[in-house]
Amino acid sequence: MKKAFFVLLVGVGLFLLAMMLWQQVKESAAQVSASLEPAPVVALTFDDGPSKYWTEGLLDGLKARDVKATFFLIGANVEGREELVERMVEEGHLIGNHTYSHVQLTTVSSAEACREIDQANEVLSEAVGEVIHYIRPPFGSWQEGLDSLVDMQVVLWTVDPQDWKVQNTEIIVEKVLRQVKDGDIILLHDVYRESVEAALQIIDELKARGYEFVRVDELLLD
Ligand SMILES: [Zn+2]
Repeated sequence: MKKAFFVLLVGVGLFLLAMMLWQQVKESAAQVSASLEPAPVVALTFDDGPSKYWTEGLLDGLKARDVKATFFLIGANVEGREELVERMVEEGHLIGNHTYSHVQLTTVSSAEACREIDQANEVLSEAVGEVIHYIRPPFGSWQEGLDSLVDMQVVLWTVDPQDWKVQNTEIIVEKVLRQVKDGDIILLHDVYRESVEAALQIIDELKARGYEFVRVDELLLD
């Protein structure tokens, strides 16, 4: 009887040991597969700049965090602020076209739309030293006929906290963090202090969540 009890005890002990080992194997396998998964990515995009008030602080913040972003610049805003654009390029950011004077392209003739785009490309490519490939049409309004007239890739967005409207750092951060997911393109405007502050807070929080930041050209190439 004693012997049978002993065998039972050893049996139960071995069973528990085997269960613990199996659990450990499962956990380490899960860790390995988690570490093999690519990090989620997002692209931060800033429209309407460069701003003589807020863009420099944004560039400082991006540099300190080693984050690359995409700037869709208004041609007219670049005049006299070429140094800011040169700095953007030096620090690895991507520059895109946001028309010369922020026109809604669906409300003007195709000739006028082309003029707006070309004029901005001229100013931008001079400051950047390269041909500009990407355009974000103001208000996201694009004339389909323009595809055959200008050789540019249209970039819209997937997350829009309407920062220009709320102008409140906390609300902008909350809106973005609530909806952001892997592969998103976030729309912000570096012409408001609150938007710049929000952008830096969003970066810090998303980095803590394991996100990586890419330019839109890296996102669109995938
Ligand atoms: Zn705009």
